[in-house]
Amino acid sequence: MPTQSNGSHPTIVTFANVNKFYGTFQALSNISLSVTVGEVVVLIGASGSGKSTLIRCVNGLETYQDGSLTVDGHSMPTTEDLEASGAKALHQIRRGVGMVFQQFNLFPHKTVLENVTLAPIRVRGKSREDAEANGMRLLDRVGLANQAQKYPGQLSGGQQQRVAIARSLAMEPHVMLFDEPTSALDPELVGEVLDVMRELRNEGMTMMIVTHEMAFAREVANRVIYMDRGAIVEVGQPEQIFDEPTNERTRTFLSRVLKH
Ligand code: ADP
Ligand code: MG
Repeated sequence: MPTQSNGSHPTIVTFANVNKFYGTFQALSNISLSVTVGEVVVLIGASGSGKSTLIRCVNGLETYQDGSLTVDGHSMPTTEDLEASGAKALHQIRRGVGMVFQQFNLFPHKTVLENVTLAPIRVRGKSREDAEANGMRLLDRVGLANQAQKYPGQLSGGQQQRVAIARSLAMEPHVMLFDEPTSALDPELVGEVLDVMRELRNEGMTMMIVTHEMAFAREVANRVIYMDRGAIVEVGQPEQIFDEPTNERTRTFLSRVLKH
């Protein structure tokens, strides 16, 4: 369950002074950030600035060395905690968090519908009938009900990514993470994936999104976070970040990416 913070917005993800190292390299530096229920947070920044590492911590794909991270009411284990307790606790937490990657990672030898029903049946213990009914509803929601019996290889990249989103939604997540979901797509297929994400936002889904689609970020984000060298350099509403960035590094980054 989300925890109540001050004010009326319940907080669902809270980083407090999180530091993360890969060996001696510091990938996250003193990250503090709260995401409220229904909020859309977009992370921007140069390659290697720590965006993927930050969102991967939210579903436990990465652990951190110090500070604290609470997700959907669960305290995420630090690297040390995890070594002590084993990975078991993570499964419970990951259930509440969906993630969509640049590469769609669908099972090539399973149909679209099977891709969407597999985890609910195996992990959640749903009946095939229920999982398929829900799966068809989700495929319809991403505009792919008529592709249910095809195999991923028979679909375009944009369609495959929409299946990946439906598959994630089938686990009924409370938070959705997107790591450059359109970066592997041909330009003409980007829009259909962004449309699905837009709809999710309108339905109130809490989302953390890493993207280079700046127009989309400006449109959907409640807050934009600019990262550099593992740190959050600037946070603000999209109009503020894009039109009046206060930090010199944000300004330099945006002038570079918005030129194209
Ligand atoms: P971004 O997503 O912003 O491009 P990442 O979070 O992927 O950045 O990476 C941040 C930094 O951490 C980079 O310098 C990257 O090389 C390093 N890094 C990422 N993953 C690993 C890893 N598994 N081992 C060592 N270094 C890593
Ligand atoms: Mg990345």
